[in-house]
This record gives sequence, structure tokens and C-alpha cells, in this order.
Amino acid sequence: MAASELAGQPILILKEGTKRARGREALHANITAARIIVEAVKSSLGPKGMDKMLVDSYGDVTITNDGATILDEMDVQHPAAKMMVEIAKTQDDEVGDGTTTAVILAGELLSKAEDLIEKGVHPTIIVDGYRRATEKALGYLRKIAVKVDPRKKDLLRRVATISMAGKILAEYKESMADLAVGAILQVGEKIPGGYEVDIDDVKVEKKAGESLTDTTFVKGIVIDKEVVHPGMRKRVENARIAILNCALEVEKTKIDAKINIEDPNQMKAFLDEEETTLKEMVDKITRTGAKVLICEKGIDDVAQHFLAKNGILAVRRVKQSDLEKIAKATGGKIATNIHDLRLSDLGFAKLVEERRVGEDKMTFIEGCKNPKSVTILVRGGTNRIVEEAERAIHDGLCVVRDVVQDPWVVAGGGAAEAEVARRLRKYAEKFAGKEQLAIVAFAEALESIPMILAENAGLEPIDIMVQLRAEHNRRHAWAGVEPFAGVVADMAKRNVYEPLAVKVQALKSASEAAGMILRIDDLIAASKTKEEKTPSKGLEEGAKEATSEL
Ligand code: ADP
Ligand code: MG
Repeated sequence: MAASELAGQPILILKEGTKRARGREALHANITAARIIVEAVKSSLGPKGMDKMLVDSYGDVTITNDGATILDEMDVQHPAAKMMVEIAKTQDDEVGDGTTTAVILAGELLSKAEDLIEKGVHPTIIVDGYRRATEKALGYLRKIAVKVDPRKKDLLRRVATISMAGKILAEYKESMADLAVGAILQVGEKIPGGYEVDIDDVKVEKKAGESLTDTTFVKGIVIDKEVVHPGMRKRVENARIAILNCALEVEKTKIDAKINIEDPNQMKAFLDEEETTLKEMVDKITRTGAKVLICEKGIDDVAQHFLAKNGILAVRRVKQSDLEKIAKATGGKIATNIHDLRLSDLGFAKLVEERRVGEDKMTFIEGCKNPKSVTILVRGGTNRIVEEAERAIHDGLCVVRDVVQDPWVVAGGGAAEAEVARRLRKYAEKFAGKEQLAIVAFAEALESIPMILAENAGLEPIDIMVQLRAEHNRRHAWAGVEPFAGVVADMAKRNVYEPLAVKVQALKSASEAAGMILRIDDLIAASKTKEEKTPSKGLEEGAKEATSEL
């Protein structure tokens, strides 16, 4: 396949071993890969969705319901499957929720497209139809969305609760939603025409132990490190804080230097000198007026001793990201060198204290200069529980932020999708033939969301869809699937709201990805170079799998 013929003479264009799939074959392989991804995530959609247990190559186990995490851990190899994973990532980065929805939508758009291709519709017509449908759908979504007051805690709480439904902390979702709302409102800033929230201002720290109900909200920064020396103070009030990203150690010579010491006094002098250097470093810090030292690198035992003597509370090996948060929260500057440290670089907090949390000790920095720094300290029975709880809280924080920044919501439970689908069908009537088919296919793909919600709730999807369509035809735009009672119900009455931003993003990224995959008619995968020993399986492995499926 790697050669063409010209006047009987083969012309080698591609390297030997290159795999190539063309036309329908390539498209089919890509769509199949996307479908497999959808199959993997769809059972996790919605409040009745199931969790996945994923074991990585090191044997580490993750239990999750989060679409982005599932795909991330799956380590997929087919190029089209990788694109699906990217959709989830984009969705997570942009809006923080709706990852499963976005992936399902993309996969369904592709499945429907394949049905049309089999009926003889050319992919470009489908791509065009999908593009038109996307534009319209986005318009409809905006039309059915309702504007809300971003200062109303009640509504924010509901949105957060829905985003955490089906996650591990479902039982405690109300109190978790409260935490998320409190945190976002604390860090939100008023800007002309609305609010702005930097999600990074909310630190989520986790520690196994106790239970999920012991998760707390701390106005300040919590770092998962203890005070470095037992002789140090464990609590400093009105603390001036030095933030250092260099080590408090005497640098060891890089070259192997041999020092010949002939008499014991020389040995002492040598050690004394090291000690003096360390003492000078500590004195320098002490002179700035700092009572707390936060250090990204190590602190030598001798330096610890002097720090303790000077009444300084020190914490070492703090993560760089934490260092930045501490600097922002306390109004301090990160010093890269002890000699440059000035009083003006120090941060300030009303209280720095080491506290016991579970089995470990953590350092709390509270009453910071900048009140916009908060931490949610997640507790829970085991590491796996706190990790999944952290992911759920992340979703809660993100949706609250989404609504605070862009105060529009739509109905959940597949209601928004069903309504947009209904309107699209109507719009499709304006077109003739194949283009109409593409727009209708787009509408059907949207309906897969309520359908899967119903399926995951153990309901008969066809029955539910018939009811749902009937309700929407009767202009009940907020009719959606209520998975607990197993009925079609008014989502506003059930308090099932979702941020408009989440739905808009899901639609955009799903249709973009589907369009991109549909336009591919040639899959060329280079063969792995022989020298390469690393198991970096990429396009080639993927293509092999894909083509072998044909
Ligand atoms: P995603 O990763 O797409 O956010 P989720 O597993 O969080 O996937 O499921 C989200 C879907 O579940 C949304 O369509 C949402 O409207 C729906 N949902 C969540 N809670 C409820 C509820 N109480 N009633 C109806 N639908 C719900
Ligand atoms: Mg969700």
C-alpha cells in the first residue's frame, strides 16, 4: 500500500510498514473507535450512573464516576479515541462539568452519521448539516435558558447539588453544595457587568480519615506539611511570613573534593564553619522580622535548630503551587535567595498553626491579608473516597463558578436536549433531502442524553422517550427524565438546573470533534521505528486495531 505505480515502476512514497486506511474504511475505523469510548462512559451518566474501577499499570486503583477521569485513566491509543478524550479534557478545563455528556454527544453524532453514510449521504453533506444544526441548537439553548441572580445562594446550591448527584458524596451533597457555594462566593470578585471567579483561589486539600461529613471550609490556606522541628512553636499569632523557594542548607560541592584533615581541631573548624553559615542564614531571616518560614526546599537540621531557638515556626518541602497560593493569600513575595529577603517581602496572617488532622499534622494559615483565599479540607474514610470526593467537589465548584460568571441556567435531566431536539426537527423541515436527514440525525443524537439517563435509571428508554417527546410537543419545555421516581417530570419543579455554559460547551466541542472526524478519509500511520524501545504506542497501534476491525 506504501507504493504507487508509474509506468510499471513502483514509486515509494511512504516508509515500509506504514499502515494506511482510506475512504470509508478510515471513517469506519474512526467511528468505531469513538463508539467504543461512548460505550465505556455511558453507563456512568446521571445520578443513577454507575462507577468505574480503573487499575493502572502500577496496580493503583481509581474508583470514579467522572467522565474526564475515566477516559484519562483508560489510556486509549486509537487516534480518534484520543480525540474523544480531548473533548472531555476541554470540557473539564472550560466549564468543569458535563464531560460525559460531551463525549456521548460526539459519539452519537458519529454513529448517526455512519447510518447516513450507509444510506448514501456524503460525509461533507453531513458535516454541513451538523454545522447548521449546531448554530441553531446553540441559539435555541440560549432562548430556553433563564437568567438568574448570581447572588442567590439557593439557586447556586441547587446547581451544585445536581452536579454532584451520582457521585460518591451524593448522600452529603447538600452540605457539600453549601461548601462549594460558600467558597466561590468568598473568592468571587465584582467586575463591571458581573462577577469574576478564579477557581484556583479555592484550594482543595484532602486527608483520609474521619468521614465525608467532616469535610470543612477553612478561610485561609491549609498545607499538608507539619512543622519541621519538634522544638519549634506550633502556633504563631499575627505572623509575618517569609516565603522561600531556596534551600536552607550549605551547598555541597558538586565535584568530589577531598579534604585532608590532619588534626581534630581542623575538623571542628570545618564543621563550625558550616554551622556558622547556617546560623548566618537563619539570623538573616530572623532580622527581617519573620516569625514563620515557608520553604519549598529542604531545611538543614542545624538550621532547624537555630530557627527553633529564634522562635520561628518553619515548614519545609512545600509544593510550588502551594507556595504561590500562600504568597497570594498573605500578600508576600516568594524570595529566591535569603540575602534578598526584605521586610516588604513578608506575608501576613493572623494565625499560623499546626493542627492534627487524622493521623497527620497539617499547617493552617488563617486570617490572611487577602480574604479571597479559602481551602476546602476534604475528609473521608479512605484515600479513594477522598479522591473521588475531591473530584465531585471540583464539579460543584466549577458549576457554581459557571453560573456566577454567566448567570443563565437550563433544565437538566435531558430536558434541554429534548427541547432543542424538538426545535431542530421543526427547523429541518425547511430543508430538502439529505441535508434534512443530517439535521434530524443531530436532533436524535441530542436525544441520546435523556435516553441514556432513562436507561441508567433502569427504565424502558423507548417508553420514556415517547412520553418525553409528547410532553415537549405540548410545549412543556422543562420536561425531563426524573431518574429517582422513574418518570418524566418538570425539571424546574424538581430543582434540576444546570449552567447554560456547560451545555453550550458540550454541544460545541462535541460537534466540532464529530465534524473533524467525519472529514477524515485517510488514516496514515507510520510504522514504529525499530530503535524505539519505549512502549509509546500511538497512531500505528491504533490504526492496526482499527483496520483489523474491518
Ligand atoms: P456529566 O459528566 O456529563 O456531567 P453526570 O454523570 O454528572 O455527567 O450526569 C449529568 C446528567 O445527569 C445531566 O444531564 C443532568 O441533568 C442529569 N441529572 C443529574 N441529577 C439529576 C436529577 N436529580 N434529575 C434528573 N437529571 C439529573
Ligand atoms: Mg456532572
